[in-house]
This record gives sequence, structure tokens and C-alpha cells, in this order.
Amino acid sequence: MTDPRIAAIPDIHGHAKGEHRPFTEERPLAYSARMLFLWFYHACRRLSPRFLMVADHANYLTFEDPGAVATVRRALKLAQAGDLIGAAETAGVDPPHAAIVSEGLRRGMRFAIGAEMDNDPRARPDAQNIVDALRPDGIIRSVHFVPIQHPEKGADWPWPFDSEEFIDLYEAVSTETLWELYTAKLFDDLEKLPTHIAGHFYVPATLGRWPAQRTLEHYEDRLLDICHQRGIAVEINTRFLYRDHPDDRKKKYLDANARLIRKAKARGVGVAIGSDAHSPKDQGNAFDVILGLLDDAHINELVFPVAGRLARVALRATREHLEAQAQAGRQPAVPGSSITGYGRAELGLPEEEPVGAGHREGGRATRESGPKKRAGDSARTSKRPAVTTPPATSTSRRSADSTSSATKAKAARVAKPAAPEKKKPARPPAAPAKAKKPAAKPSRPVAKKAAPARKSVAKKSSSKSAGGKKVAKKASSKKPVRKKPAAKTAAPRRPAKPKRTAAGSAKKSIKKKKTAAKRR
Ligand SMILES: [Zn+2]
Ligand SMILES: [Zn+2]
Repeated sequence: MTDPRIAAIPDIHGHAKGEHRPFTEERPLAYSARMLFLWFYHACRRLSPRFLMVADHANYLTFEDPGAVATVRRALKLAQAGDLIGAAETAGVDPPHAAIVSEGLRRGMRFAIGAEMDNDPRARPDAQNIVDALRPDGIIRSVHFVPIQHPEKGADWPWPFDSEEFIDLYEAVSTETLWELYTAKLFDDLEKLPTHIAGHFYVPATLGRWPAQRTLEHYEDRLLDICHQRGIAVEINTRFLYRDHPDDRKKKYLDANARLIRKAKARGVGVAIGSDAHSPKDQGNAFDVILGLLDDAHINELVFPVAGRLARVALRATREHLEAQAQAGRQPAVPGSSITGYGRAELGLPEEEPVGAGHREGGRATRESGPKKRAGDSARTSKRPAVTTPPATSTSRRSADSTSSATKAKAARVAKPAAPEKKKPARPPAAPAKAKKPAAKPSRPVAKKAAPARKSVAKKSSSKSAGGKKVAKKASSKKPVRKKPAAKTAAPRRPAKPKRTAAGSAKKSIKKKKTAAKRR
């Protein structure tokens, strides 16, 4: 990895539940804390991407998911606190895994757990309720089906247009019609359903179907209008770029995304990057290519969902970032490192990208409306958290947490390098002035990290797919019951056994991929 900014590009789209399977074989698959923890573990091993959100499909949701998500969040908190045994027991992983994640968190890795909510007819009707229950950091809204007149099955048949399994239906539906149906559904959903990020806009072109250029650009403009209005960010999805597709198609895909990035920038719409990884090895895949597009468009800040708002991550520290940092009296994170990759909130900057940085006229409005879109509006009311000012007295539990955790993390980082720095004495490594408050109430450290997981578990469960219930049951009964106590008891001995053969045991979690449709 050459350019250090590549690792700082937040990856907001990944599927810990694994690769797509043949259409009729896909069914709900329960998360386990282990699965999620390992998903993040892999990123920690590489220390890239430093910001990672897992977001599985609506049709894979199960009632076990919220519990697993809560459990892994707890495990991540323990890992960040250095309680390797507690983290390992809570997540159901080996201490070496926990050690890697713990180290990653200390070095600035950030995790989020969200969902890719699409219009999959196989998703249970109460899918959104489940998503709300898992308190998603962000929701990616996408469309994978359009209703068509099926030659045999009749009207309103939901066509998975980006699946090669159903490619023959292109004979019955023109490319123009597909895009018309697709955009109508997507725009309608974006306007009405909880959304933080509009997912892979060009997905109908996965199999090479592009509408006329003018039409396409018109759709892009509509998309950005809606996003701007609702404070939604657009995703630049890289899956197409690292999958098996002809070069000329990739070129076309890249050109379209470059244009979308430029337009988003011009309109003040946030840009999010997603690998759409269905395997840990693809986390952050092709981000080097995207960095080129971002540079061309002069974009230095990307969005990353945190607790239902769109935090901003700077790829490179600018004077603005540095000044804000200096003002807050913060020290560089780790000796030799920069603040690259820190969110604006973490730096104590206003969420809004600043002045000259780009024409984001409607920017502020945009950002402010962001929080409104959160998943469970009703449930988690005002999350408008204090991006600007660290959460002194936030009403929202989560926001307070997240901020404080960020602050905390920073404090931790600060603490370390503190030694070498000059102003040590005056201010203990504790926390910077501004951050003091949050740091003081360390109650819940890391709320948002989430991690991924995968292989063994995923595989296991998928192999008994039908027995999803069985797997799920096991997971849920096991975790909650013994976890808590275990963590507690283990806590005291936390400095005990740190790292061992992380890599070795990690190997176990090898993955096997089953490819199927090319769906994202
Ligand atoms: Zn998708
Ligand atoms: Zn996806």
C-alpha cells in the first residue's frame, strides 16, 4: 500500500454474512458476535481500512442479529479497554484475535454496524424493525429488484436484474425500461425510507446495461437532488472494479463514478466509498483506484456512518484540521503519525466541511438533516449530537457514547505519545480540554466498533443453511448467558495474556467462498 490515504478511506459497505448463493438457496442467516468480531479482525490485521462498516442484506436478517450486534459491541469495548480475555470470551473468539483487534482499536481503527436495506421480496416484512433493534450506525438504501411482466410468471414479478441467473429476462425488458423502473423505485425509497447512504447507483449496469448517456446523466442529477435535500450521501461502489469484468466495462463504470463524484462534490452531497466485500479479503478492494477519482475531484473528506449520523473522515490533514487540533490542545496520535483519517468530530471540527473546501452551499442544511434520517427515528429520537461540541450533556445515549468513545480513544492515543511530547506535565494525558467532559464519563467506551466475522462460522451456518434456526439458537443461548459474567470475571486479569499466535489461530477462520450470482 503506497499512499497512506488509501487506508484512511472509510469502507462503508461489507457483508459479513458471506457471498451470495444461488437465488433460491439464499435464506436468513444469523449474525453471531464472533462473525462480526472476525470481520473487523481482518481489517485490524492489515490496519486497513481504518474505518469499516458492515452492512448485510435485508433478506439475511434474523431476530438473533440485534443480540449479536449488541454482544460484539460489548466485546469491542472490552478489546479497546485492553481486556483481551473478556473480549475474547464475549465475542467467542480466541485471545489472539482479541489482541489484534485491541491493538487495532488503539491505533485508530473504527467500526460501524449498519445494514444494506434493499427491496428484496424475500426479506421479512418486519425487517426494518430488526434493523432498528440493532441500532444501526448507518443504513445503505439500495434497489435490487424491479417489478416486471414475467413471460411465464405474470405481472409484477420482482426481477433481480443484476443477477446473472436471471439475465435472460433482458429479452423481455429493455435497458431503458429497467433503468426507468429502477430509478423510480430507488428515488421513491430514498424519499420515504430511513437512509443515510444511497447504495451503488449504477447497479443496473452490472451486466453491461447502460441507458443512453443523456438519460443516465438526468437520473444522476435527480439522485443528487434527492440526496442533497435529505442529507443522504452517495456511495461509490468498487465491487465491479475487482470482480471479473471486461476492462472496457470497468472503464465505463469508472467514468460514470468519476462523474458522480464530481457532481456530488459540486452539489455538496457527501461521498461514501464501499467495497461491497462479501469476504474479508475484499475489504477496501480497489480503493487505490478510487483515490485517483477523489483526487481528480479534489475531495479530501468522505463520510462514515456513526450512530446514525454521517461523520466525516479526512484523508489528509489540512490546515483547518491541524489548527482545530492545536486549538484543542491535542497531541498527535502516535509519534510519527498524523491525524489523517480522523473524523471531523474526532478533531473537534464542525461536521460541515469548511469554507473554501468546496462549494457546499447547502452543505449545512444537508448535514443537519442527516440525523433525521436515522433508522429508528422514533426510537432514537434526537441524535443530532454534538458534532460541533463534544457532547457535554447529550441526551442521546448513543451519541454521547460515540463521542466520548472517540474522545476517549483520542485521549488514549494522546496519553501514549504524551511522554515524548513537551506539554506533558501540565496536562496529564487524560483528555484535552474540550474532551474532558466526555472522557470523564468513561462509562461506555467504544460503542461503535463492530467487527466482522466470518468464515468458520459463516460457513458452518451456511452449510446448514436450512438449519439456520439451529445455528442461531446455539449462538444466542450461548452468548448472552455466559458472556457477561465471564467478561466480568476476566476483567481483572486483563493485562494477563496478550498476544500469541494471532496469525496462526486466525488462519482457522479461513474462508471459503461460494460464488453465485454477481449481485452486490
Ligand atoms: Zn447491493
Ligand atoms: Zn452489498
